[in-house]
Amino acid sequence: MPRTKKIGSAGKFGPRYGTKIRKLALAVDKKLQQRYKCPSCGAVKVKRIGTSIWQCGRCGVKFAGAAYSLSALAPPAEMKASGGVEES
Ligand SMILES: [Zn+2]
Repeated sequence: MPRTKKIGSAGKFGPRYGTKIRKLALAVDKKLQQRYKCPSCGAVKVKRIGTSIWQCGRCGVKFAGAAYSLSALAPPAEMKASGGVEES
């Protein structure tokens, strides 16, 4: 898959569709490839295996989530960890 420095995996689109749309596509792509925190065992090993189907690589639990990220509301685990937003 072609990648570029500027727009990463959205480089597959070449010069097509315009910068804004390619940037949006990249944001979705990144969310797809993210590893999320497992609601069952807590490991950051949840991977998307199909549209809105997510599976944990550690305990193997399979569950439904949002189509392009684990939850439409919660940010990815890594983002949460670096963002400094603490849950009480
Ligand atoms: Zn798990």
